[in-house]
Amino acid sequence: PAPAAPPAERYARSAASHAEAKRYMPGGVNSPVRAYRAVGREPVTIRSGAGAWVTDVDGNRYVDYVGSYGPLILGHAAPQVLAAVGEAMRNGTTFGMPTEAETRLARTVVDAVPGVDVVRFVNSGTEAAMSALRLARAATGGHRVIKCIGCYHGHTDAMLVSAGSAATSLGVPSSPGVPAAVAASTLLVPFNDLDAVERAMATHRGEIACMAVEPIAGNMGLVPPAPGYLQGLRALCDRFGVPLLFDEVMTGFRVDHGCAQGLYGVTPDLTCLGKVVGGGLPCAAYGGREELMRQVAPDGPVYQAGTLSGNPLAMAAGQAQLDALAADGFAAYRRLEAASARLEEGLRGLAADAGCPLTTTRVGSMLGVFFVEEDGSPVRDYADATAQSTRRYAAFFGAMLDAGVILAPAAFECWFVSTAHDDEAIEHTLAAAGPAFAAAA
Ligand code: PLP
Repeated sequence: PAPAAPPAERYARSAASHAEAKRYMPGGVNSPVRAYRAVGREPVTIRSGAGAWVTDVDGNRYVDYVGSYGPLILGHAAPQVLAAVGEAMRNGTTFGMPTEAETRLARTVVDAVPGVDVVRFVNSGTEAAMSALRLARAATGGHRVIKCIGCYHGHTDAMLVSAGSAATSLGVPSSPGVPAAVAASTLLVPFNDLDAVERAMATHRGEIACMAVEPIAGNMGLVPPAPGYLQGLRALCDRFGVPLLFDEVMTGFRVDHGCAQGLYGVTPDLTCLGKVVGGGLPCAAYGGREELMRQVAPDGPVYQAGTLSGNPLAMAAGQAQLDALAADGFAAYRRLEAASARLEEGLRGLAADAGCPLTTTRVGSMLGVFFVEEDGSPVRDYADATAQSTRRYAAFFGAMLDAGVILAPAAFECWFVSTAHDDEAIEHTLAAAGPAFAAAA
């Protein structure tokens, strides 16, 4: 069933705002998913956020599981973050010269993340993955990257690549403007498939710069690594002499203080971070083993730079957020686990009651909800993830929106729970979800 038509007056100001935005920006947005095309609705325009909630320009309030796609692990306008940014801002917004705040956050990252001996801050996850790949290419002399189908590593040419026809295939551009030659240097393998990785490494021996993976895939909905998958990748990389790159832009400091690599006990050679590490300001990072990272300029010849990299406001926001997560013996992660487990269980029960087949996946505060054909069918890779019904997701999304719960406007995104998602927020969500599952059944 199509989502019930929203009452026009409820979203009147958002509609006017979006109509004007479309005149000036492609789709009226600065990142395509925000235009709501996949769910057949008009986007709501946000005025403000506080804790687990956001308010749109019409004054409607929503419990928010977008969380800006991951950074806001303490919720919106977290007091610690606002205070830290405010204090930093009074001293100036950017210098293009070293500050102590950079070293402090770098030390925090290096102390926390097993695979990071040395770190470089950049401005976006895209930039982190691009720079890590350049470093891997320089260090190995290989030009190819192995990438999992359905993992996202930002929108640089080498990473904006889709699978060809074969299970293990040379990439084809997934956007006009990506040169075919660049895409062909990217080898695509299914997530959770070690045999495909082994074949790619054996076939292209000596040509591979790195094996890039989201250790917990979060960009095809949430697909956790199968038991032994990450350990198997580590072993294959060791056997073939290929650096292992964990893209932890989404998972870094979200699933654990030690990131996914700490959680699963598998240490990569290179790590990308973003989102949580920047506290909701534009900030990301790449880091890794000492001898690799010392090849980055000016210690080494691999060039990479940035006018706003290590920005003092971003450093302050990230530091405040990481300090808050570490307080009281990392109590925040236990709270996130409890709230997220309650949400997941509640959603499953309600879907069952509504006769709506569903699979949920979860690692800590990252939750995947798949509108599968058969209740509980496993989701292990991109083929499984994309077998779900986007039509049913759109119906669910619309019903949740109209009931005051805002989800990502696409079926292939995680839900992000924050420490601000208290009992009231979860109860509000579950109250909305019962009828929404019925609408999507
Ligand atoms: N890598 C991963 C795993 C991501 O989830 C994302 C963004 O969602 C990126 C890279 C790109 O980060 P950004 O959007 O900051 O460029």
